[in-house]
Amino acid sequence: MSIDTDVLIIGSGPVGSAFARLIDQQRPGTSITMIELGPQVSDPPGANVRNLPLGERDAARERSQGPQGAPRGDSARAFDVEGTIISPGGTYLASPGHQSGMPAAALSSCVGGMGVHWTCATPRPNDDERIPFIPAGELDAAFDEAERLMQVTTLPENPYGSAIKAILREHFGDTLPDDRRPDGLPMSALPQPDGSIRWGGADTILGDTPVLLRADTIARRLLVDGGRVTGAVVEHLPTGESETITAQVVVVAANAFQTPQLLWASGIRPDALGRYLTEHVLVYSVVALTDDVVTRAGIDTPVEELVKDPTASTFGIPYTAGIHPYRTQVMHMANPPFPVDESQVAVGAARFVAMGNGVRKFPRAEDRLVFSGTEVDGWGMPLISVEYEVTERELAEVERASADLRSVAESIGAFIPGGEPRLMPAGTSLHYKGTVRMGDDGGAASVVDDRSRVWGFENLFLGGNGLIPTATVTNPTLTSVALAVRAAPAVVAQLGD
Ligand SMILES: Cc1cc2nc3c(=O)[nH]c(=O)nc-3n(C[C@H](O)[C@H](O)[C@H](O)COP(=O)(O)OP(=O)(O)OC[C@H]3O[C@@H](n4cnc5c(N)ncnc54)[C@H](O)[C@@H]3O)c2cc1C
Repeated sequence: MSIDTDVLIIGSGPVGSAFARLIDQQRPGTSITMIELGPQVSDPPGANVRNLPLGERDAARERSQGPQGAPRGDSARAFDVEGTIISPGGTYLASPGHQSGMPAAALSSCVGGMGVHWTCATPRPNDDERIPFIPAGELDAAFDEAERLMQVTTLPENPYGSAIKAILREHFGDTLPDDRRPDGLPMSALPQPDGSIRWGGADTILGDTPVLLRADTIARRLLVDGGRVTGAVVEHLPTGESETITAQVVVVAANAFQTPQLLWASGIRPDALGRYLTEHVLVYSVVALTDDVVTRAGIDTPVEELVKDPTASTFGIPYTAGIHPYRTQVMHMANPPFPVDESQVAVGAARFVAMGNGVRKFPRAEDRLVFSGTEVDGWGMPLISVEYEVTERELAEVERASADLRSVAESIGAFIPGGEPRLMPAGTSLHYKGTVRMGDDGGAASVVDDRSRVWGFENLFLGGNGLIPTATVTNPTLTSVALAVRAAPAVVAQLGD
C-alpha cells in the first residue's frame, strides 16, 4: 500500500506540530501527514497530561513509556519529583544497558512527544547561548513567533511566590543586569478564570491545523534518491503492516536520539550525525523556607490551600555570560520531592522550594550516540549506545553553581536533610541537544544548515533540540520551535504554488 502527501512530518511533539501549523498557515491546502510511533494518550491529541483529570494522568504517563517492559527512569535517579528538574513520569530510559555515560537519558513515545509531560518553561536563551550565525534580529523575530504559537505567558504570582522573588532579588542586589533578575518563568500556559491553569502542549501549537495524524506508526527508513528524499517506509506497529508514504518534503522531528537514528537507518550518515551530544548538567537541592518568607507574604495560609497547582509558582534566574553562567530554576511546592523528617528542620507555612542550577555542557565530537549495524532497540530500530562524559571543564562550573545554590538557600531558608546541592546523573535534564546540530560550515561539523535543511539534500528538513549547536543552560523547546519558524518558509518554497 502507498499514500501520497505534500509534506510528511515524522514525530508529533511540539516541534513537528510547529512545522505543521506554520506550513499550513503559509500555504493553506497543503496536505500534511504526521506519523508518530507512540499511541495517543490525551485528548485533544498531544494535550499536556496535567490538563487531564487526576485519575487519568498516570495511565497516560504509563502509555508513553515505550515498548512494554521498557525500564522507567526511576531506578536511575536519586529521587523523583514532578517538574522540569527530574521527573521520569511519562518517560523511559533511552537505551538501557547502553547508556552508562548518560544513565538518566530518557524519551517519551506518544502523540505530542515529551510535550505531553513537560513543565512548559519557555525562556529565551541569552548571550553566547544564542546561535551566533543567525542574525540577531531574525532570531528575535523567530522567538516572537514561537512564543505566539506556544501561548507563552508569565503566570500570576501568589503572596509566597512574591516574597521568595523579593528576597532573591535582594540577595543578588545589582550584580545581575536589570532584565536578568529573578523573575516568574515564561510558561506555555493559559491561566483559567477559576485560578487553574491549562498547560501548553503540542495541541496548543497545532491548534486546528488540518493534519492526517497516524499514531502507533513508526518511520523505519527514509527513501533517498540522490539529493532528494521521496518519502518513507512506515509500519503500523499494532498490525505490523508496512507501507510507503511518498512526499514532496520530509520533516524529521523525532527528538535528539531518534532523529539521527532514523537518518542512520536510512543510510544518511554525515560525520557529525549523533555527535556533539550535550544537555544541561544539573545541580539540584531542596530548601525548607524560613518564617521570613511567611512574614514577608503577610499571610500564613498553608500553600496547598493557596494554589491549585504546585508548579504555579516557578522562578528563574537567567543565564548571563561571565556573571551568572548557569540558569537557576526555583520551584515552590507544598510537598517535598522525597520524605522529610520535619523534626530535623524548621518548615514554615510557606513550605519548600526545589532549586536547581543548570550548567553548560560544552560540545565535543566524542560525546555521541553510536548506532549499531546489527542490534536493534525495543522499536526494532538500530540500537543506540551513548558515549558521554562530564569533563573537568563542566565540573569546575558545577562547583561554582553549587556554591551559588548554597548562598541563595541561606537567604530563604535551609537545606532539608538530604537536600543539599548534588550533581544529578547525566541525562536528568531531559534536554538533549547537538546530535543533528545546525551549522554554517557546509556540513564539516554539522548536519543541517541555518534553515534546518540537511546538508546535501533539497527537501529533507530536521527539527528539535538536536539542532541546537551551542552550550546552553536554557530550557530548549522555545528555541527549537523558533528554529522551525525559520525553517518553515524553506519547506514551503519546495512545494511550489
Ligand atoms: C517531565 C519533562 C519536563 C520537561 N520540561 C521542559 C520545560 O519546562 N521546558 C522545556 O523547554 N522543555 C522541557 N522538557 C523537554 C521538552 O518536552 C522537549 O524539549 C520537547 O518535547 C521537544 O519536542 P520535539 O517535538 O522536538 O520532540 P519530542 O517531544 O520528543 O517528540 C518527538 C516524537 O517523535 C516520535 N518518534 C521518534 N522516532 C520516530 C519514528 N522513527 N517514527 C515516528 N515517530 C517517531 C517520538 O515517539 C516522539 O513522540 C521536558 C520534558 C519532560 C519529559
